[in-house]
Amino acid sequence: MKAEQVKQWALEAGAHLVGIASADVLNAHPPDPVWPQTPDRISPFCRSVIVIVHRIPAAVFRAKHNLPVQYMDMLVLRRLDKIAYTIAGRLEERGYPSFVTAAQETDWALKKASYGRLSTRHLGIEAGLGTFGLEVNILTPEYGPRVYLTGILSEAELEPDAIITEQVCIGESCSRCLYSCPSDAVLHFGIDKRACASEAQEFGYMTATALFERFVEAGRAKKTEMIRSRDVFGFWQGLLRVVGSFGDCPRCLAVCPVGNDYHAWLADDQKVIPEKTPDKVARAKAYKAARKNGEPVSGLDEWNRRWVGPDGYKGIVARQLKAFRERQAERKAAADAETSR
Ligand code: SF4
Ligand code: SF4
Repeated sequence: MKAEQVKQWALEAGAHLVGIASADVLNAHPPDPVWPQTPDRISPFCRSVIVIVHRIPAAVFRAKHNLPVQYMDMLVLRRLDKIAYTIAGRLEERGYPSFVTAAQETDWALKKASYGRLSTRHLGIEAGLGTFGLEVNILTPEYGPRVYLTGILSEAELEPDAIITEQVCIGESCSRCLYSCPSDAVLHFGIDKRACASEAQEFGYMTATALFERFVEAGRAKKTEMIRSRDVFGFWQGLLRVVGSFGDCPRCLAVCPVGNDYHAWLADDQKVIPEKTPDKVARAKAYKAARKNGEPVSGLDEWNRRWVGPDGYKGIVARQLKAFRERQAERKAAADAETSR
């Protein structure tokens, strides 16, 4: 089976990017070896993981509140599942058993947090589609972090893509994700998941269990009041449409300057970051100094550097912006020539 054929199917079915990771490589490089998220824990027969990416439309990051991005997240995830299902079916028809992973589900036997059977961010990096940002989202050169991913586990032995060794994230001298984060969750190529969840999962699992605990302790009158609270409405809405249960906070996605979608639609609107404070600026400076001085940083240790981009930042965003402006100038010249005919 040719990798190019599978990629063509994915793009024709609506994926914006597609790459292939070798199951052997994924098995040898679990994101956290203590809690391994590897294909061999799911199927001993998996040879390749086809990773597909769908972008989140930039328009939602220009909206006045978060509801549009929350709803589009859900639509994007549904579409991704359908595309992945189609690819798995085509592979099966040709004699290669294949199935789709649950991209956003937690394996309770692992960390009891937001921790799936596979990490889609790591799948994407191993499939050559991007590298980690400072906030440990995957940054694709094309759409920055404004993407969702899923993986198709296949018994087909497909030619894998090479990992990107150049750091796509500008790094500490940018730190726009850190400045924008309302809950101060962005670490140094790491994330405080609990702090992030307070904004990104307002009606997520931890909020639900905390409410149930308070409910059990409360008296009858208080219980009645709690049943009719905004929290319960939030959980109901989350069950219906996912809205509120995850992906609630778009800030670090909206402000990241990587990607042509940022240059085209977000640069003006997101230039100023209202959440930026002197404290956050001081933290970014401390991160920069720590890296320059070679201080131990867990997000940049030997194991994690593979996903950050071991060659360091080489100016990918500046190159991208230059190419984008040249294309814009060409388009304008063509449009002017058309008008003057
Ligand atoms: S999703 Fe929101 S809360 Fe979480 S790291 Fe990004 S900006 Fe911070
Ligand atoms: S906002 Fe800047 S520092 Fe943060 S992930 Fe994007 S490029 Fe990296």
